[in-house]
Order: sequence, then C-alpha cells, then structure tokens
Amino acid sequence: MSGKRILVWFRNDLRIHDHQPLFEAIQKTDEVIPVFCIDSRLFDQTIYGTKKMGAFRAKFLLESIHDLRKSLQKIGGNLIVRTGIPEDIITDLADQFQVNAVYAYKEVASEEVNLGDLLEQKLWKLKITVNLFLGNTLYNKEDLPFPIKDLPDMFTAFRKKVEKDSFVRKSYETPEKITVPASADWGDIPDLKTLGFEEIENDPRAVLVYKGGESEGLERLNHYLWNSKAVTTYKNTRNQLIGADYSSKFSAWLSLGCISPRKIYHELKRFESEKIANDSTYWLFFELLWRDYFRFVFKKYGNKLFRQQGLKNEKPERNTQRETLNLERWKNGLTGIPFIDANMRELKLTGFMSNRGRQNVASFLVKDLKVNWTLGAAWFEEILLDYNPASNWGNWAYIAGVGNDPREDRYFNILKQSHDYDPKGEYIRLWIPELANLPNSFIHQPHLLNGKEEEKYGITIGKEYPSPIIDFRKFEKAY
Ligand code: FAD
Repeated sequence: MSGKRILVWFRNDLRIHDHQPLFEAIQKTDEVIPVFCIDSRLFDQTIYGTKKMGAFRAKFLLESIHDLRKSLQKIGGNLIVRTGIPEDIITDLADQFQVNAVYAYKEVASEEVNLGDLLEQKLWKLKITVNLFLGNTLYNKEDLPFPIKDLPDMFTAFRKKVEKDSFVRKSYETPEKITVPASADWGDIPDLKTLGFEEIENDPRAVLVYKGGESEGLERLNHYLWNSKAVTTYKNTRNQLIGADYSSKFSAWLSLGCISPRKIYHELKRFESEKIANDSTYWLFFELLWRDYFRFVFKKYGNKLFRQQGLKNEKPERNTQRETLNLERWKNGLTGIPFIDANMRELKLTGFMSNRGRQNVASFLVKDLKVNWTLGAAWFEEILLDYNPASNWGNWAYIAGVGNDPREDRYFNILKQSHDYDPKGEYIRLWIPELANLPNSFIHQPHLLNGKEEEKYGITIGKEYPSPIIDFRKFEKAY
C-alpha cells in the first residue's frame, strides 16, 4: 500500500461483483472513493421531443443506487451520490480528495464516450490519470479474434469466430473489504419526485415487479437458473408474451450493470455441468452474444447508428405531418391493429415489451407506417426499463435496414405474427380490455365485425376501439 487514493466512478455498472475498476482500486490503494453521479441531462428533452430517461428507468436507477450503497456499506464502505454534470462533479471530487487516479468502465455510445474524454481532459490539467477499463461484455474487446475495424457485419460470422477463437474471462471476485474516507458528504439519494416524476403504480398485468439493484438482479439469475430451471426451456418459450419466466428478464439489470454478463455466463456454465446442458441453455448464451455484438458494432461505427440514414450514405427523408400523427397513435397503442396496440400499451404502462413484440412494433412503424425509425427508437429510449444505446439503436437500425447486415430486409406480417404468437388472443385481451369479449374469430381483426356483431359484443369499431390506421388487406394478402 502506498498511501494512494483512487476514485471509482460508477456508470452503467452498479454492482460490486465482477467489477474490475473497483477490484483493482481496492488492491492498489489505501482508500477508495466510490462515486455515482445522476446526470441531470438525462431528464432534458431530446431533439425528438422525448426524454432520455423516463419514470420507469429512473425508478429502477434509484433503487439500484440504494442497493449499491448498501452493498458497499456491508463491506465497510459507502457511496458518494450527486446529481448534476458528471464530468464536473468527478473533477471536483477528485480534486477535493486529492486522488491519484480515477477508475471507471469505458462506454461505447458516443455521448458516454465523449463524457469520458471530457473528464480525461479536465483531470489531465490536475495531473490525475483516468483509467477506463474495457468490460460489461462477455468477450473483452482485446480478446476478439479480429480488430474492431474488421468486426463482421453479419452476426453469424461474428458468433462463429468468437465461439471458435475467443474465450470469456473469469469474473473478478466480489471484494470483502473496502476502506473509504472516515468522513465525507455522502449525499442523499433523490426520490422520483425530486427528479421530476410522479410515483409509479405497478400494473398487475406486468410480466414482473421489477426492482433495481445488484441483489435483485442476482436473485433473478438464481431464480431463472437454479430455482425455476426455466432456462432449460428458454428456446421454446422465449417468443411468448405473457408471464415472468418465458424469457430471462435479465435485460434491465444488465443495462445498468447490476449484473455482469460474465457472471451470467459462468453461472450458466456451472448450471450446465451440474444440471442440464441443452439447446435452451445454449440459446441464452446465444442471445447474450447479440448484446455483445451490438456493443461492438457501436464501437466500430460510433454515432452513425443514431442517424436516420444509419450506416448508409443516403440523404434522410423529412417526416410529414401525417407520419407524426401516426407516430402518436403508435406510441399510445391506438393504431386499430390489436397485436401492435397490445404491445405498445404494455410498454407504456410497464416499461417492458417482449423481444417478439419489439420486432413487430418496430417493423410496423418503419415499414407499414413509413415513419422515420429514429422517432420510434427515441420513444423506446425514454420508456424502456432496459434501455441501453447499443441494444436499442442497434436493433432499430437493423430492423429499419440501415444498420449492420443491411442486406436482410426484415418485414413482419403483423396479422400472421399475431395469429402465430397469440393464437387465442390472450395477450390482446389482457392489454386491450375493450376487446375482451370478442370471440377468437375477430380478436385479431375486430374491424371485420358487422353492425349486428358489434351490437352483440358491445363494441363499435371507430368508437371504443379505433379503426385500423392502414389498409388491413395488405396483411391478409400475404397471410
Ligand atoms: P432474453 O430473451 O432472456 O435474452 C437474454 C439477454 O440477451 C437479454 O436480457 C439481453 O441482454 C440479450 N438480448 C436478447 N435479445 C437481444 C437483442 N436482439 N439485442 C441485444 N441483446 C439481446 N434490449 C435491451 O437490453 N435494451 C434495449 O434498449 C433494447 N431495445 C430493443 C429495441 C428493439 C427494436 C428490439 C427489436 C430489441 C431490443 N432489445 C433491447 C433486445 C431484446 O428485445 C431485449 O433484450 C429482450 O427482450 C429483453 O428481455 P429478456 O431479458 O427477457 O431477454
């Protein structure tokens, strides 16, 4: 020990397990200064008229900060919490505590990368080094069998190469002891109201009562693997729409780093060796690879994936007034297409939507309503509980046909998808109570009801439930 102090800046890594910056800071110094800054810019309006962070994620974030502070307190430490501009706050704290270095994880999306660069410049003037670690993926960038500039533009090629020629590193151990300054202004953690949000009421139809934090994330991991063993049927259930266990629901904890992808990987491997290894257990790993892939795609292409033209060199089209109206109907689940509306209402009321749903509503907005995809991605950014830039904008650009692998034209026939994935209309009835009394023959296309039938089922299409926003016959033809 050399009497050094290191400030650990927590960003999207709100955990103490498998946390390289924290682990190394504890090894190398006498005192660690753990800090989290709530970036006040997250609550500003974006150029799309949305917020960068809505109430669901804000709540989840606050819960995760509380949990991180508790975990640090359990090992003898604490967490400094501030709200404001992180690069200023970290610089001030680094100066105040006379630290030798600032440790943090590196990010991949442009705003977060810029923030790291700005901090480096500011601290350089104070002769304080910033050490940004690679991580928060299964595979470390330096362990990839190719430089990022040669990252394959097709997922399959990426997957095959990494599976063959790379490896997932061991997780860092969870520290058992940390020494922090004896006194400090640790700061209060604000509540939702202070951040400008109303309290959220849990919708009883939500797939899960989400609670942020490392403890909850690890509990969910334990539940999905060891307690329920739902992972052993994941490949068959992952396209379902109702319930807690059809998919892992790890995404929100992963996005804020409450749980590390490597931790999931090693637990999965242990489960496979001690219980069962089958297609489903492999498939969870396969999906986590998608997450890695989009992060590396962002590293390769930077903020091009936030542009309407994506990776293409075309001039972006302007949105018309009609498209803007369509966007509003889409956001509010009022398109008159039950499968779309059910998904969009679930999202708006709970902050979550299944992967099947996300693919359909995104394809519908872009390919059928012809709305600029970035407006849809910005809505998801505000409302999603599990939002992260790479997974969200990467998937949207991919579906809009302007991301990586632009050759594949993904079009979803909504009517077919609705029949295939919600054959009995249970999901539609759950989220659109106006349609609850309709028989199966009409649940996917309520606009086919004639006057008599409308009377019989107590609903007038165009009144209690909207008429379809587009000509439905296009789906029927292809279906
Ligand atoms: P599971 O099916 O259990 O999958 C396990 C994990 O694998 C997920 O938690 C996630 O980390 C990863 N994963 C699965 N599918 C994908 C994928 N297509 N891309 C990247 N990672 C994946 N996921 C986010 O985490 N944040 C987002 O902001 C986000 N936005 C999306 C936007 C669109 C338009 C689409 C089509 C997908 C988006 N996804 C996003 C990916 C995916 O829909 C969610 O990760 C998944 O539905 C979360 O549920 P789960 O944790 O139960 O997933």
